Amino acid sequence: MEFSNQTAVVTGAGSGIGRAIALAFAGGGATVFAADLDAAAARRTAAERVAVAGSITARSVDVTSGESVRALRDDVLAQAGQVSIVVNAAGIDVTEPFTDNTEKLWADLVAVNYLGPVRVCRAFLDPMIEAGVGGKIVNLGSDAGRVGSTGETVYAGTKGGVIAFTKSLAREVARHQINVNCVCPGPTDTPMFAAQPERIRQALARAIPFRRVAQPAEIADAVLFFASGRAGYITGQVLSVSGGLTMAG
Ligand code: NAD
Repeated sequence: MEFSNQTAVVTGAGSGIGRAIALAFAGGGATVFAADLDAAAARRTAAERVAVAGSITARSVDVTSGESVRALRDDVLAQAGQVSIVVNAAGIDVTEPFTDNTEKLWADLVAVNYLGPVRVCRAFLDPMIEAGVGGKIVNLGSDAGRVGSTGETVYAGTKGGVIAFTKSLAREVARHQINVNCVCPGPTDTPMFAAQPERIRQALARAIPFRRVAQPAEIADAVLFFASGRAGYITGQVLSVSGGLTMAG
């Protein structure tokens, strides 16, 4: 897909799915800002590009801080002049029984996974609306937020929140020709998934009709579709990319 003359901001771009998304946009010719709490990881993503048509610039951001998110926005605008695509891929997860959770874990999950995308959308909508040429926002949800997931109870709640936020924001900003959609990965081969116990990873792979977990690039394909001109009339939608693990409507 072709993204020349477009500026894409990707959070969580230092690892896993966000990294694959940043590389895919750069491959399509976009000017990419790869932002992550882990600045060194973001720099590794930027350094990885090989023969890409666009460019990747690494930036540090903490999506739990409005100040940090606004600083990222101002920096991107100063360097690129505009932002046409925003992807929220930063996220955290801990798998354990709900009854073992601490309140701190709940607060952290909400701060990163739910309020993170809320903050990033709020900050970047101002210049997108002001530019008056539309834009694309893609939020990373999770199948956990669609159908639930044992051991990821509050995480699933934050992802359900991301889905509802996506739909509501899509209604509000359609008048500005800004599309807001949500990609919900199933189990995907990233450091986050590797942190799950081996027996859970194997059981999940067996339960998937394709008998394997996703590669990050396969999630990126869906994100790039939503960010492309091919999805101009699609907004407020939720796409599960899970190898058929979930097929609920
Ligand atoms: P990952 O752990 O590989 O990468 C997440 C990145 O987010 C890391 O680089 C991390 O530094 C960054 N991050 C964490 N907190 C941050 C903060 N406060 N500010 C900025 N960046 C921060 O995870 P992943 O598997 O690539 O997950 C990407 C997204 O996809 C997440 O939203 C996750 O919930 C979702 N997801 C993943 C899976 C899976 O199986 N891997 C499944 C469903 C949904």
